[in-house]
Amino acid sequence: MNAENTVSAENTSTAAKTPVTVIGLGNMGAALAATLLENGHPTTVWNRSAAKAKPLVDRGARLAATPEEAVAASPLIIACVLDHDALHAVLDPVAASLTGKALVNLTSSSPEQADEAAAWAAPLGLGHLDGAIMTTPPGVGNPEMMFLYSGSAEVFEAHRTTLAVLGDPLYLGAEPGRASLYDVALLGLMWSTFTGWLHGTALVGADATKAADFTPVAIRWMTHAVAGFMAAYAPQVDAGRYPGDDATVDVQITAIGHLIHAAADRGVDNALPELLKATMERTSAAGHGSDSYASVIEVLRGGGRDSMRV
Ligand code: NAP
Repeated sequence: MNAENTVSAENTSTAAKTPVTVIGLGNMGAALAATLLENGHPTTVWNRSAAKAKPLVDRGARLAATPEEAVAASPLIIACVLDHDALHAVLDPVAASLTGKALVNLTSSSPEQADEAAAWAAPLGLGHLDGAIMTTPPGVGNPEMMFLYSGSAEVFEAHRTTLAVLGDPLYLGAEPGRASLYDVALLGLMWSTFTGWLHGTALVGADATKAADFTPVAIRWMTHAVAGFMAAYAPQVDAGRYPGDDATVDVQITAIGHLIHAAADRGVDNALPELLKATMERTSAAGHGSDSYASVIEVLRGGGRDSMRV
C-alpha cells in the first residue's frame, strides 16, 4: 500500500470509524486520544512513560507495548510529542514499518522542521500531513477551534472526517511548513494582543478599575472595531498602497504620546508603547506619515524575501 491508498480509508459518515494510533500522551496527546475515543474511533496509544496511558486504557484505548506495535495498529498515526527531535527519536527506529501509513504530525515545529519531516517521509512511502493545534487541551473536540494542516492533500482528504472530530480542520496547501508558519504568526498575534490588553489593564487598574470591568470593553473594541480595521487594511497591504483616509501614521504617533504619558504618570511599564511609537516613527521617516497604519508593514518587512509581497 502506498500513501494514495489511504484515500479510501474513510469517505462516508456511515463508514466504520478509522482506527487511529496516538503517539505521545502529554497534556495535548492525551486530549487528542480521549476525543477520538469519545467519538468511537478504535484508538491505540503509545507513550514513552507508559503510566500516562492508564486513564485512556480505562476508557477503552489499546496500549501498544512498543512504537512498532503502535504504528502497526492503525492506518492513521497522530503524533504529538514535545518537539521535532522527540518525533524522530520515536519514529526513526520504526521507519520501515511506516510505509503505506498516514502520519499527521501535531507536534509543534518550525516550518523548516516540517519541510524536513516531509522529505523524511516521502521515500518511506509515508503520507505526511503537518498540523498546528490552535487551542489548549480543553478546547480539543470543540468545532469552533482551528486545527491547521499542510502537506499531503491526499492524507487530508482521506482523513478529514476523523480530523474534524478534534476541531475545525483548515487545509492550507501542499507546502509542508505552511501550517507551522501560520502557527507562529498567530501565536505572535496572540502574544502582542495579550501584552497590549495587560498593559491597558495595568493602566486602568492604577486608577482602581478591575480587569473584569475593563476586559468586556476591550473585547468589544477588538471584535467590532479592530477586527474591522484589519479586514480593511489587508487589501492595502496586498496592493502596497496605503491611503491615509481614515487615520494617518502621524496622527497615531501623536495619539500614542497620550498613552505613554498616562502610563508614565501611573508608574506603568512603557516598553511596549515605546516600541510601537518607535516603529511608527520609522514608518513616518520612510515617507508614510500621511498613509494609513497598514504602511507599518513596509518597516516590518525589512529587507526580507521578495516573495513576501503577494
Ligand atoms: P507535554 O505535556 O510536556 O508532553 C510532551 C510529550 O512528549 C509526552 O508524551 C512526552 O513523553 C513526550 N516526549 C518528550 N520527549 C520525548 C522523547 N525524547 N521521546 C519520546 N517522547 C518524548 O506537552 P504537550 O502540552 O502535550 O505538548 C505536546 C506538543 O503539542 C508540543 O509540540 C506542543 O507545542 C504542542 N501543543 C501543545 C498545546 C498545549 O496547549 N499544551 C497547544 C498547541 C500545541 P513522556 O510522558 O514520557 O515525558
